[in-house]
Amino acid sequence: MNTQPEFKRILIKLSGEALMGNQGFGITPEMIHYVAEEIAKVARLNVEIGIVVGGGNIFRGVAGSSAGMDRSSADNMGMLSTVINSLALCDALEKCDVPTRVQSAIRMDQIAEPFIRRKAIRHLEKGRIVIFAAGTGNPYFTTDTAAVLRAHETRAQILFKATQVDGVYDKDPVAHEDAVMFDELSYMRVIEKQLHVMDMTAISLAMEHDLPLQVFDLHQSDNILKAVLGQDIGTRIK
Ligand code: UDP
Repeated sequence: MNTQPEFKRILIKLSGEALMGNQGFGITPEMIHYVAEEIAKVARLNVEIGIVVGGGNIFRGVAGSSAGMDRSSADNMGMLSTVINSLALCDALEKCDVPTRVQSAIRMDQIAEPFIRRKAIRHLEKGRIVIFAAGTGNPYFTTDTAAVLRAHETRAQILFKATQVDGVYDKDPVAHEDAVMFDELSYMRVIEKQLHVMDMTAISLAMEHDLPLQVFDLHQSDNILKAVLGQDIGTRIK
C-alpha cells in the first residue's frame, strides 16, 4: 500500500455541520477535536493544507432571508459564523501541535489576518495550515464556492469535500434503498443530473479550471489520510 502522499497541496472543505456532533447546533468539543486530529495526521506527512469551513451549524443566510431578513444582511451573518468555526478549528489544530493561521475575506484585523493570496501561499510553504474564513466575502455565495476559489488561488491539486455521507449517489440514499454511489463522475454529469454535491457555481468554477473534487465521509476515521494517500474512497469528480 502506498504510504507516500499523492498530493503536495490540498484544500479541505468542511461543512459547519461537521463541527456540531449530534447536539444539532454550534460546536462540540469532541467533534472539533476529532476533525482537528484527522487533519493533523495529514499535516504530519508534510502535505500543505488549506481549509474552508462552512457556517451552517450556526447561521445560514437563506434561513434569515426566509424569516424576512434582507438576504445580504443574513449572508453577512452566515459569513461571520464561518469565522467563529475557523477560530475554533485553528485553536483545535494548534492543540494538535500544527501551526495554523486564519485568513478572513472580511477584514477583522484583531482576530484574523486579512486574506492575502501570496501570504497564504507563503504560510503553506512554511508548513502552516491556512483556514480561509468568511467565505468569499460576498453575499449570495456559498463556502463551497469559496473553497473552489481558494483552491484555484493557492494552486491546490485537489479539493476534498469531507462530508456527512460516503460519496455521491444517483438518488437520496436515505429515502431510496436502491441508491447507487458513483466512484467517479464528470463535472458535466453533476450539473446535468443536478446531483447535490456542491452548488452549481462551485461545480462550474471547478470545471472551468480542472480542479478535481473528492467527496467522502469525514466521520470514518483516517478518511482524509486515505484520500491523501490516493486510495479510492468516496466519489471523484473530474
Ligand atoms: N456565505 C456568504 N458568502 C460566501 C460564503 C458563505 O454569504 O461566500 C454565507 C451564506 O449565508 C451561507 C453561510 O455563509 O449560508 C454559511 O455558509 P454555508 O452555507 O456554505 O456553510 P455550510 O453549509 O458549508 O456549513
